[in-house]
Amino acid sequence: MQIKYIKLSYFSGIPFLETKPLNNIPKKIYSMEKIFSLFLAVILLASYSSAYSIVNMHEHIMSISEAGKLIAAMDENNITKAVLLGSPAITLYSNAEPGFKGYDKNNDELIKITEKYPDRFIAFPTIDPKDNQKLDKLKDYTKKGAKGLKLYSGHTDFYELALNDSKMHPVYSYLEENNIPIMFHVNGHKYKDEFKAVLNDFPDLVVICPHFCLLSSRIDELRELLHNYPNLYIDVSFGRDPFLIAGVKRLSNNKEEFKKFFEDYSDRILFGTDSVVTDNQKKTKEWLVNVSDCYIGMLEKEKYGCFLVEEELEGLDLSEENLKKIYEDNPKKIFSGKAAQINAKKDENTNFVVGISSIIIVVLVGLLVYFITIKRK
Ligand SMILES: [Zn+2]
Repeated sequence: MQIKYIKLSYFSGIPFLETKPLNNIPKKIYSMEKIFSLFLAVILLASYSSAYSIVNMHEHIMSISEAGKLIAAMDENNITKAVLLGSPAITLYSNAEPGFKGYDKNNDELIKITEKYPDRFIAFPTIDPKDNQKLDKLKDYTKKGAKGLKLYSGHTDFYELALNDSKMHPVYSYLEENNIPIMFHVNGHKYKDEFKAVLNDFPDLVVICPHFCLLSSRIDELRELLHNYPNLYIDVSFGRDPFLIAGVKRLSNNKEEFKKFFEDYSDRILFGTDSVVTDNQKKTKEWLVNVSDCYIGMLEKEKYGCFLVEEELEGLDLSEENLKKIYEDNPKKIFSGKAAQINAKKDENTNFVVGISSIIIVVLVGLLVYFITIKRK
């Protein structure tokens, strides 16, 4: 077997292919090979060392005007998608009157955002349990692309009806039948029994109880809930600054206990930031990135810094396998129901990247084969 290469030559300006033995390869072609190999190596490295594609399961946004800022922050943290939760005015506007009001306006805003950025955002509108139109509204939002429901009825500021009140049963049934998840704010200290009654009556309902179900200081009770209700999930967000500071410190001070908890329940924990994106001057893109960095540091690092805390914090230093579950696989599971498209969308995106990389690799290999041909004698 003798290795030959093909050289593009010109005779009186007319191109033709000429074969030459390998030992006569001119330097020009050698250097081209080097460039191709390097390019190939870079492409391969880029496709195999990519970071996680994080799904942020807990975010609020004032209006579509803030979407660009949030997307820019998400891009810096490798957050590919964010769930936007319908919010009452009091969550978003500092001058709003208290009470569960103004949420319809925010719901409509979320639908607008998800229509404009279907690959980046998922809408979970909210309803008022006392509203007679609540089920019709929910069905309408689902038709418009909403993939879940947000409930605040287990929040001490908005609690007006028992969580297991029969007025909510048609909503829970609709969600359960259609595999639509609820992000259900429940204060686990106060309303645990009512919450358990809902979970018992609707065992197939997928429920995410944010902020560790407010039980991060009573981890044994949280373990018991997760153990007894396989469709129950939690998210790691803590909420406003004082809660975030207290939360990251609690985990830092009880690292081993929380590490064990995260390892035991890695298939039931979700990433969430709860930054509440508004037009408030404080809430710049950098601020949003900093909040995400606190949570990412908490999960990934052995030691890390969070911009709101002076001292260095102990992180959970979770394994890649567990991080992938929290960032990617658990959201996939949650949205694998009928109403959900996130998995398809996400896979499409991944397939696009892999597809483009493959095309580039094939073209490069083709070019290499073009320049060097192996010929049997
Ligand atoms: Zn929230």
